[in-house]
Amino acid sequence: MQPQSPSHVFAPPPVPAVPVMGSSGLFPVRRIYCIGRNFAAHAIEMGHDPDREPPFFFQKNPDSVLLPGRDLPYPPGTASLHHEVELVVALASGGRDIPEAGALERVFGYAVGLDMTRRDLQAEAKKAARPWEIGKSFEHSAPVGEIVPAAVSGHPMRGGIRALVNGSQRQEGDLAQMIWKVPEIIAHLSRYFELAAGDLIFAGTPAGVGDVRRGDRIRAEVDGLPALEVTVV
Ligand code: MN
Repeated sequence: MQPQSPSHVFAPPPVPAVPVMGSSGLFPVRRIYCIGRNFAAHAIEMGHDPDREPPFFFQKNPDSVLLPGRDLPYPPGTASLHHEVELVVALASGGRDIPEAGALERVFGYAVGLDMTRRDLQAEAKKAARPWEIGKSFEHSAPVGEIVPAAVSGHPMRGGIRALVNGSQRQEGDLAQMIWKVPEIIAHLSRYFELAAGDLIFAGTPAGVGDVRRGDRIRAEVDGLPALEVTVV
């Protein structure tokens, strides 16, 4: 009898792929890294001292991506779903121990994202010194807008970042206020993980995070990038 060649016992799940602005291209997502407390004003509003606690990382699952134009189903198990507008860095290549000087060469492009957070569950996890997944890494928790190639957008270092809910402004900051800049984030991450093409990095949120409810329309903006609009349903 001939041995059978191995095959999947069910169809592999599809790889989430984010549209690239100005082309029919899609950016397939490999991993999602998020940086916590990268804006001092947000660290302070969450009860932390940014001078004593440097930024840090957590992950979301790639299938947490919510593609542009899709509605955000209100997640289960929470009474406090928060918006966090963030610059998203999309990597074209990676590696380990990437020097800051070579970091931007790894960037494919940039997008606007929302690090949606079940704040009540995150707060319970923090209090109990437990991991954050239950508050951060749930279905549709990572809305991402169209990715703009860095060849078009340049590497945004300053400029407004804001979130509006139903037309009224909730979050506002400037990318220049980021404690760790994009090259530092990539260099730092690559000391602990092997980065690769398809990785997305959510670069942290400015102050003003808050609750959204079903029916709310979130508009997330970073100057120079296409706005991301998400309706909570
Ligand atoms: Mn965040």
